Amino acid sequence: MSTPPPVALLHVTGVRRITPRTVRVTFAGDGLDTFPTWPDQQLKLLFPRPGQSAPRLPEAPADDDGMRWYQAFLALPEDERPWMRSYTVRAHDPVRHRLTVDFVLHGDALAGQSGAAGPATRWAATAAVGDTLARYGPAAAYARPLPLDTPGLLLFAGDETALPALASLAEALPATARAVAYVEVAAAEEEQPLATRAGLTVHWVHRDRAPAGPGGPLVTAVRAARLPATPAFAWLAGEAGAVRALRRHLLTDRGLDTHRIDFTGYWRRSLSQDDAPTEEDLAEARERLAAAGEAG
Ligand SMILES: Cc1cc2nc3c(=O)[nH]c(=O)nc-3n(C[C@H](O)[C@H](O)[C@H](O)COP(=O)(O)OP(=O)(O)OC[C@H]3O[C@@H](n4cnc5c(N)ncnc54)[C@H](O)[C@@H]3O)c2cc1C
Repeated sequence: MSTPPPVALLHVTGVRRITPRTVRVTFAGDGLDTFPTWPDQQLKLLFPRPGQSAPRLPEAPADDDGMRWYQAFLALPEDERPWMRSYTVRAHDPVRHRLTVDFVLHGDALAGQSGAAGPATRWAATAAVGDTLARYGPAAAYARPLPLDTPGLLLFAGDETALPALASLAEALPATARAVAYVEVAAAEEEQPLATRAGLTVHWVHRDRAPAGPGGPLVTAVRAARLPATPAFAWLAGEAGAVRALRRHLLTDRGLDTHRIDFTGYWRRSLSQDDAPTEEDLAEARERLAAAGEAG
């Protein structure tokens, strides 16, 4: 028997600016009572086109396993088809059936900044109670159990878009874990508390004060880091070029095995999530599959 695609409308019930650049949005919607949860849980959000009060969704055939839904989605006229973007479940409240997502604002969604913000960020910048999005996921097939109980040092590195996932991972760490996190944010006021039972040391890297270095501030900071031990496992997420450089550094300079690094490019400089994968993206996807194969 096939599982129906995990698609449902989401209705905004709360909006709060938790830092100058981060908007925390809480949603209600169908299916949040039986919602599967795990740390670092990603889902796709669908954003309405101009003039629509809710994203237009295709009809799902009753026996659909997700593929036919996606084909029907792609067959919608482009100017009516919702924008689809990846986000992280920051929290799920199983009692009140609420879902929380933290949206980082970038580009001209922020006063005084240049560069065109994408549709997800434009939506988040003006989100209000009663607004409607849709979700695709989370799908249990994408749940990746991470080795958070690995003995030895765990290394986390990412930018502000990785903070929701990193916060959910910090909350899930066992009390015995020893971890260090490097987090790049725009400035000091973007720091967020990371709750954990584990021994976690967080190094905040502020873009506004960082010296110029090849690969950007996060890469420079991790390269220069005097870690107490060689990491037993590393988790990397954020701007794709920085993630690639960090992974190369860990493989080449710090001697980590490929299957001890979990890495995801969350966004690409000058490219939107609608743009096709580059050669580098495809090579990275192949390496990820190969590493998963070796680990399995
Ligand atoms: C698995 C996964 C989980 C993610 N979780 C989160 C999350 O919880 N919260 C969150 O805020 N983001 C998260 N992201 C990142 C988010 O999906 C991207 O930032 C996305 O591009 C935002 O869509 P958009 O419509 O605003 O911009 P797009 O239309 O995709 O891009 C428009 C322009 O904005 C630029 N851009 C995109 N993101 C940024 C950025 N952060 N800083 C500067 N420029 C940018 C692009 O280079 C492009 O030029 C996640 C991504 C992945 C893959």
